Amino acid sequence: MPNMNPNKTAMPVQDPKERARNFEEVALGYTEEMAVSEAQRCLQCKHMPCVSGCPVNVHIPEFIAKMAQGDFEGAYQVIGLTNGLPAICGRVCPQENQCEGKCVRGIKGEPVGIGRLERFAADWHMAHSQAQPEKPASNGHKVAVIGAGPSGLTCAGDLAKLGYEVTVFEAFHTPGGVLDYGIPEFRLPKEIVRREIDTLRHLGVEIMTNMVIGKVLSIDELEQQGYEAVFIGSGAGLPSFMGIEGEALVGVYSANEYLTRVNLMKAYLPGYATPVKPSKRVAVVGGGNVAMDAARSALRMGAEKVYIVYRRSLEEMPARREEIEHAMEEGVEFHLLNNPVKILGDENGWVKGMECIEMELGEPDESGRRRPIEKKGSNFTLEVDTVIMALGTSPNPLLRSTTPGLEANRKGCLVVNEETMQTTREGVYAGGDAVTGAATVILAMGAGKTAAASIDEYLKNQ
Ligand code: FAD
Ligand code: SF4
Ligand code: SF4
Repeated sequence: MPNMNPNKTAMPVQDPKERARNFEEVALGYTEEMAVSEAQRCLQCKHMPCVSGCPVNVHIPEFIAKMAQGDFEGAYQVIGLTNGLPAICGRVCPQENQCEGKCVRGIKGEPVGIGRLERFAADWHMAHSQAQPEKPASNGHKVAVIGAGPSGLTCAGDLAKLGYEVTVFEAFHTPGGVLDYGIPEFRLPKEIVRREIDTLRHLGVEIMTNMVIGKVLSIDELEQQGYEAVFIGSGAGLPSFMGIEGEALVGVYSANEYLTRVNLMKAYLPGYATPVKPSKRVAVVGGGNVAMDAARSALRMGAEKVYIVYRRSLEEMPARREEIEHAMEEGVEFHLLNNPVKILGDENGWVKGMECIEMELGEPDESGRRRPIEKKGSNFTLEVDTVIMALGTSPNPLLRSTTPGLEANRKGCLVVNEETMQTTREGVYAGGDAVTGAATVILAMGAGKTAAASIDEYLKNQ
């Protein structure tokens, strides 16, 4: 008999007051008993709607059936057939819009906690198994992957399993992409990212860091060095600003810069040479996951007050519900229907406040969300010493400007054939945020998988 509890087994979490001041993981993970009990909520539906919601088609009912019997290693092995980064996906996938969004248990209650179970299986494997995959025999073909984010790593892993000699060229000094420099430690411990990347290294994937392709080497030069195909997974790391007065003041950051300093350059640890300015009152502008991450990081960096300033209402906020709730529990204050018009500076050029205006919602715009309209004369000043702009990002133009034949659309995203992920240049494939603009980890992984299959097809027919 399945467990017919309408609610998911609750996830143990750190106390909000305590966690708001430390960088340790917020969600603590299921115990074995909790995992088995949650797995028993799955009805083992024959038509498997949940699988169609997963961009990498994890065999969900099959792995959950093993979990329900307490076979955690077996569950991990099933997940690993299609997902090379399960501990990461179990933590950061927006499951409510993907696998869990399609789960039939969600019709009359909460869906099965597929992400939580996936995380449990991956963590259990890491804690209990030393086994590493064997490096497959080489087929003699060389492929270059640009960018060690989830799209590049997935493409590299899938090609390595097929016997390709894959080298990943990463601009930063560590691999992981946004998993490493963007998503904070308290949501995704970096040790987990390291461990999942180590598994890829065991498959034979070589990762070369500090290699900015387009500067150190061009794609033409990679091809001259014998790489027969190239995958571009260079992400969308170029931040946007509002273009308002005061954005050049000291104390204004893009969320990317702020999070990179905190996550990658360890600004929160003493002795590191990349501190962030000590802040008492911080305004984060934006309403997505990146804004929530920046706001919650600012609290942990010691700010007394952290505000989210968002021009629409809570209903339109694009961030995951869970992240919004966690931010609220931790004490982040939400200034909804407010928009900055000017950042104010003191005589030394440091931020001392932000002038905002109240907004109201009009008719839906092209995105389907109600258009925010300024309420004339409702200006007010928020006293802050730091402003973090979390307004979205776009792909860096470096690769397209140094690679003949590579076309991009007007937003700077690379143009690909959506079935094969081939770009407008033969032998060069692309996927992830470099193609879609800022999206999700699992969509980037799905694109990396599709590209790996196409590259295999292309090279087999050469
Ligand atoms: P990236 O992860 O951006 O990786 C690209 C890599 O390419 C980087 O390491 C970069 O240094 C490297 N690179 C760039 N140019 C070059 C070059 N010329 N040469 C060599 N290397 C290069 N998604 C979710 O699903 N869930 C979340 O909770 C979530 N939270 C997020 C929080 C933040 C703060 C941010 C910024 C994003 C978040 N996302 C989340 C989005 C998700 O992380 C991205 O969609 C995903 O990482 C895209 O993967 P990618 O491989 O395309 O690019
Ligand atoms: Fe769900 Fe993400 Fe796992 Fe797919 S990879 S089953 S979308 S949590
Ligand atoms: Fe189990 Fe839900 Fe998938 Fe049905 S839809 S098999 S209940 S996870």
